[in-house]
Amino acid sequence: MIAFWFPGDGEEFEYDVRGLLGAFFPGETQVKLDNRPEILPEDCVFYAVPSPDRTLPYEDIKNAWKRRIYDELSSLTGRKLPWGTLTGIRPVKLVMQKLEAGERPAQIAEEMRRSYYLDGEKLSLAIATAQKERSVLARTHGVQGYSLYIGIPFCPTRCAYCSFTSYPLAVCRDQVDPYLDTLIYELEQCRPLFGSRPLDTVYIGGGTPTSLTPAQSDRLLSAVCRIFPTDDLLEFTVEAGRPDSIDREKLAVFKQYPVSRLSVNPQTMQQKTLDRIGRLHTVEDFRKAYDLARSMGFDNINMDLILGLPGETAADVEDTLRQLKPLQPDDLTVHALAIKRTSRLKMEAEGPVKAEVGEEESRAMMRAAAEGARDMGLFPYYLYRQKNMAGNLENVGYAAPGKEGIYNILIMEEKQSILAAGAGNISKAVYSDGRIERADNVKQLRDYRDRIEEMIERKRRLWL
Ligand code: SF4
Repeated sequence: MIAFWFPGDGEEFEYDVRGLLGAFFPGETQVKLDNRPEILPEDCVFYAVPSPDRTLPYEDIKNAWKRRIYDELSSLTGRKLPWGTLTGIRPVKLVMQKLEAGERPAQIAEEMRRSYYLDGEKLSLAIATAQKERSVLARTHGVQGYSLYIGIPFCPTRCAYCSFTSYPLAVCRDQVDPYLDTLIYELEQCRPLFGSRPLDTVYIGGGTPTSLTPAQSDRLLSAVCRIFPTDDLLEFTVEAGRPDSIDREKLAVFKQYPVSRLSVNPQTMQQKTLDRIGRLHTVEDFRKAYDLARSMGFDNINMDLILGLPGETAADVEDTLRQLKPLQPDDLTVHALAIKRTSRLKMEAEGPVKAEVGEEESRAMMRAAAEGARDMGLFPYYLYRQKNMAGNLENVGYAAPGKEGIYNILIMEEKQSILAAGAGNISKAVYSDGRIERADNVKQLRDYRDRIEEMIERKRRLWL
């Protein structure tokens, strides 16, 4: 446990304090105290948060104060953090803003070292990623255009590490058609909000969109293409996700529509791990699904990998990358496992699926993935971080030149409005003056259906 206290001022930055404490003391419970305690439990670390220096120029106050806290926690723990004082989920955004302001990479690197203690391989990764993102974003209509996200919150079964809105088909199969009714109604009602603006990307995610039957997939895709203009589309992704949900009939349906990018996700190529986390598909199922998609002409296929799955080591990650190389994916998204409150892994942390990866091992895994991606001719093009991430690391998307997932960059860099339809999804309006506003949809299937008018009204307020 880590207990902290603000003896002076600075409480408005509590969120940042928690971020740094979480990074230096991963997995520890944080408790904020009202005053210095007389007695503390033996295994509890106490930290008195210093006051920020208010004599500094306003824009420097927080960064200088975070550096001071970093220095204190670093000498307390003997540790350095790979991302320096950056605790937010979008570390590349800062670099991007500087590039947009016309700063040169060498100048940006110097500032990032000085202001945020960001250095070494993470600094190089942030700059290379921002440069790549910029070149991809130049192909979009930016703030004039918009993107569409459609969520299908059903999966064959629930994975042990899942923290998404996802309902297992075994208990929810009869709810899929009513859900599609509501979803299509939501799309119809929201379409007029965008007038003649060009639609740049469509992303159907989940859950597992390929949980739908071929007839249900056909119904959804035909509705999307009837309701929305697809002439200007740069990308249309369907997350095929679980290999055990993919078959020829479903892929043939996708081929009738402008689906240009698929995601087929092995997560790992270690069978023992798949068994442990409840994926219920085999490595062989993945190979077959991938080969099938390739043979049917899909020429932009992403694969998701997760690092830090229970029982895995850096050697397992190296082996996974070795097995994937001959398959030549176009895009590889590498996730460091984030343990969230809603995931079974966390709830069962004392049980058979305990997930604990040491910091050094996490970094070794990340390096193995980066080297494996480079070896396949893939380059970093977007990244983001999450709370509770194994080893305080990041998720990185690597792609072959020209095969970058445009929607992934748009959602990270917040350069364009995203209409998000379906239970549990959050729409985001990006205005030309840089303001960003959000409207979220309720998560429960029944609430989504019963309160759909309210969900639509929330979006009208964003865009009308
Ligand atoms: S396939 Fe994805 S969304 Fe579905 S249960 Fe597994 S992790 Fe969750």
